[in-house]
Amino acid sequence: MKYKSVFDMHTHTFNSPDGNDFAILICEKAFLKGLTAIALTDHFEIPEINEGYYEPALKQGYYDMIKAKAVYEKEFDVIMGIELGGAIYDVDYAKNLLSTYKFDFVLNSLHGVTGTDYHLTDYTVQDYRPLLTEYFAVLLAQCKLDLFDSLAHLDYPARYVKLAGIPCDLTQFAEQIDEILKFLAENGKALEINTSGLFAPFRSTLPEYFIIKRFKELGGEFITTGSDAHTSDHIGRGLEDAMELMETAGFSYVTYYKNRKPIPVRIEKI
Ligand SMILES: [Zn+2]
Ligand SMILES: [Zn+2]
Repeated sequence: MKYKSVFDMHTHTFNSPDGNDFAILICEKAFLKGLTAIALTDHFEIPEINEGYYEPALKQGYYDMIKAKAVYEKEFDVIMGIELGGAIYDVDYAKNLLSTYKFDFVLNSLHGVTGTDYHLTDYTVQDYRPLLTEYFAVLLAQCKLDLFDSLAHLDYPARYVKLAGIPCDLTQFAEQIDEILKFLAENGKALEINTSGLFAPFRSTLPEYFIIKRFKELGGEFITTGSDAHTSDHIGRGLEDAMELMETAGFSYVTYYKNRKPIPVRIEKI
């Protein structure tokens, strides 16, 4: 590692529908890679609670996190997290969930709005612009519920537009993006730099660099970095590139969370 402190604050275990490895293996890989801490942030999709997967998965996942934390207690920090998707679709349920379980860290995400699943949409047929306008509006409203610590992959649907081979100019949504970034900055929330896109054909972080830079201009303080790994081999991928981008954008600290409190750590090269 080129940096003294590197945090993977977004990872998925077997307790996510698209996760492949047990929590303990994820932690072992993170430890061997020399990460300072790892957050386990399995999916919990509020709009899909009635389908029966998420409640038992969360019970198992929470227990697995407690076990992993105990095993690695002396080696490094295992942060008990969750990627809470679509909280706006049942606010009372989301609030109750967050008061029932004791998480260290909550990621806020929106993978679809009612009737639209971004990774299943055919962007060669469907114009992406109204979809993104709607996405940013719902995302801002969801941020305002104030049920999270860091905003995951802010420009998520753009990933699938780009994967369909369609150029996606996000500057046309600058006003809406500014509103979201201002909310984060003014309310002490973190912006996530998700590195998964660095390994996709479009090769850029989520969100794109100009959004990270704009967050700094608007007074943003906290950044979390996450690989969004769904397999243990991808733990830690691209995090040092994310830290370089952060430094270029003017940030001097990277942040991790314990007990829902931000802990900024100065960015230092070894
Ligand atoms: Zn996500
Ligand atoms: Zn994720």
